[in-house]
Amino acid sequence: MTHTTLALLGGQPVIDRPLTPYRSIGIEEEQAAAAVVRSGVLSAFVGSPGDGFLGGPRVLEFEAAWAEHFGVRHAITVNSWASGLVAAVAALGLEPGDEVITSPWTMSATAAAILHNNAIPVFADIEPDYFCLDPVAVEAAITPRTRAILAVDIFGQSADIPALQSIADAHGLRLLTDTAQAPGSTQDGRFTGTSADIGGFSLNYHKHIHTGEGGVLVTDDDDFALRLRLIRNHGENAVEAYGVDDISGLLGYNIRLGEIEAAIGLEQLRKLPQLVRSRQVAAARIRAGLEGLEGLTVAPVRPGGTHVYYVLGLTLDESAEVPREVLVRALSAEGVTGAFGGYTCLHRAPMYQRRQVFGHGGFPWSLQDPQHRTSYADGICPVGERLHDATFMGLEMCAHDLPAADTDLIVAAFTKVWSQRDALRDHA
Ligand SMILES: *Cc1c(COP(=O)(O)O)cnc(C)c1O
Repeated sequence: MTHTTLALLGGQPVIDRPLTPYRSIGIEEEQAAAAVVRSGVLSAFVGSPGDGFLGGPRVLEFEAAWAEHFGVRHAITVNSWASGLVAAVAALGLEPGDEVITSPWTMSATAAAILHNNAIPVFADIEPDYFCLDPVAVEAAITPRTRAILAVDIFGQSADIPALQSIADAHGLRLLTDTAQAPGSTQDGRFTGTSADIGGFSLNYHKHIHTGEGGVLVTDDDDFALRLRLIRNHGENAVEAYGVDDISGLLGYNIRLGEIEAAIGLEQLRKLPQLVRSRQVAAARIRAGLEGLEGLTVAPVRPGGTHVYYVLGLTLDESAEVPREVLVRALSAEGVTGAFGGYTCLHRAPMYQRRQVFGHGGFPWSLQDPQHRTSYADGICPVGERLHDATFMGLEMCAHDLPAADTDLIVAAFTKVWSQRDALRDHA
């Protein structure tokens, strides 16, 4: 098989059928959702203090189950993790123009949550092997206006939380985490996402488990938990009733989760360990199959941790002679769906380059001393930029079910493309 013509060059593809799609939703979710519909009460939230301020029966049950499973004091559901991120930053009660250090390698919503709170995202570089915030770069990015670090557990494993926490402690900063892609992974015996001041998870359709749209905030801090619950549900109506003194940041939203989603979420949470396990089995099989392909490295798992593989990270040697885009196209021609080149460099987005978010006066950067304005120039995150521009390749692990038969086809496609890189060299 490996010596037939590459599909990109007109040969037969290794994979001539669609890969089995990933599907976490089944009869359990159908029945749970139907029971809510039959009850007629699709949300029991009330937007003022009293019964219903904290949500309906399924929301409360789902939050209790989540807190129990993840070993945290508080789990607070929201209508999306993008909303949860805005709430997490808001709960810190920052001053406009305060700075929050985050990763350029994440979904745009992570950094947007900082801007939504009139604060300034400062991008620090990532680790070349784990793709999470590099603690050394974080320390170097601290200024007198830094108030928090927003770390991202990208692709399915934990950021270096002990190092980031000790930097936060040394400088009096808060630590937030975005664990949208790593539910159920662990680091040093704790669930990823449960060690920061506030963390959280996504329940969006594309993630390991989902409720269509949704998210869950987690914290062990009673005060943050109350602030998050107020922000979720028209906080300005309830601060007096809940006896909150520092009300800055508590201008509320309606970012509540419905009862149908919560009922589905309960079923999904039960399935999480099995779904994670199946990603790990598939990743191990692909890892073993790709080992030995010249110039290709399967990204390592952080010592002391487990990886849940939202994405399997691959890096190409700097000296590779075939451009990454050609390899991705060749793989895709062989029928490997879900392979992609590069990830992101958030600092290159137009709103940072043009500093245009709230009107046209450059707010919130206009609050900074012009001599010390946050830079979004190329070169601020050389490791992330290099990986994005040339050497990183990802394989989506939550788009397909990936039974052994399918992972073996993926490995065969990689092997075929790699064995014929000579033929691709002139194809750039
Ligand atoms: C998916 C994702 C989000 C956003 O979550 P939603 O629930 O879709 O709003 C934020 N950060 C990261 C890293 C994500 O992968």
